Amino acid sequence: YKAKTSRGGHHVYDSDDDSHGEIRLRTLAELRVALTDDQLVLHYQPKVDLGTGVVRDVEALVRWDHPTRGLLLPDQFISIVEEAGLMHSLTQVVLREALDQAGVWQAQGHPLTIAVNLSASSLVDIELPNRIGAMIAARGLPPSALALEITEEFLLNDRDRARSILTRLHEQGIRISVDDFGTGYSSLAYLRDLPIDELKLDQSFVFPMAESERAATLVSSAIALAHSLGLRMVAEGVDNGAAYDQLVGFGCDFAQGFHLSQPVSAHDLDGWLAARRLALAESPLLPADVHA
Ligand code: C2E
Ligand code: MG
Ligand code: MG
Ligand code: MG
Repeated sequence: YKAKTSRGGHHVYDSDDDSHGEIRLRTLAELRVALTDDQLVLHYQPKVDLGTGVVRDVEALVRWDHPTRGLLLPDQFISIVEEAGLMHSLTQVVLREALDQAGVWQAQGHPLTIAVNLSASSLVDIELPNRIGAMIAARGLPPSALALEITEEFLLNDRDRARSILTRLHEQGIRISVDDFGTGYSSLAYLRDLPIDELKLDQSFVFPMAESERAATLVSSAIALAHSLGLRMVAEGVDNGAAYDQLVGFGCDFAQGFHLSQPVSAHDLDGWLAARRLALAESPLLPADVHA
């Protein structure tokens, strides 16, 4: 068996996971190569503005284009990266790739804000704000080209340090989102104390919305909470049209999910965005449900 640290920090035992024993060791050795050998690729998933249908933000999600095992998802390697102490390298690789892509989109005249996921372990690195600032400046990008998604877990670390790192990032003009909002076990106090711009409501709240009035009430209350604090709300896991419509009704700001687009390569996203721009130009009053 192997011990996997779940979101809540509890240990879950799982014997038929890839990270078991020998495979895990081999994966670790291969990961070191992957990090220096351009095997980590980013897929992008749009955040759609529920008011206008327009896309100005995308989330970067890392994949490992493994030489023999195919395209691996974060669940299959992120915990190994973390335990091997390689998260710092992964974050660097992801930031570099995301900012390069932001430069491409900017040069094409369709600037997009790319949201990068930061693990809690990255938020102890006091050099991070300077490094990110330098990476943005080196590409001639505005700071609004980058957003950072953090989870509530980061509060388990040294809070003062995390606050200072976040504040310095935010002061540069980088948007800060709280990912998987509602699933952590921290207090709401950080919403008062930290420089946060956006909440991303976890998909586990969005999925049961249609069947459960209680779930729907939670969603609409979370949206009201976000708005009363001047934060924008993104709903994750919007995988059907009914959920999309329900969120529009609740006044949610953005939606992300398979109903709109799966995470796809930058090239495929370009095609999706072009089709969407065309559809919006043809019927600007019917933005809600454009498929491409
Ligand atoms: P996350 O940041 O909360 O990302 C959302 C996850 O939900 C993604 O999984 C996405 O593919 C999936 N998803 C999006 N829409 C739907 C939907 O409609 N239905 C369902 N069932 N799922 C949907 P993915 O790409 O496997 O990523 C999983 C997690 O791995 C991410 O959760 C994030 O915490 C982490 N991760 C991804 N990329 C990075 C990275 O570059 N750095 C770090 N530190 N973590 C990353
Ligand atoms: Mg995220
Ligand atoms: Mg999430
Ligand atoms: Mg998640």
